Amino acid sequence: MKRIYRHYSDTEVTQLSTYVKCPYCGEEWLEADKDECGTTYVLTCENEDCEKEFEMHFDAS
Ligand SMILES: [Zn+2]
Repeated sequence: MKRIYRHYSDTEVTQLSTYVKCPYCGEEWLEADKDECGTTYVLTCENEDCEKEFEMHFDAS
């Protein structure tokens, strides 16, 4: 069986995380793969005491 070797120099960041902040309670966390321009995502607050849904609109600028 053949074997290939890969190192850290062969890696690439394929997932972009976005800092989000709940507009209700101010909780902040990172959302992965929520970076499609012009897209509105529906997120749920990660704070157990809040857990409200809100929209996050992602755009280029
Ligand atoms: Zn919240």
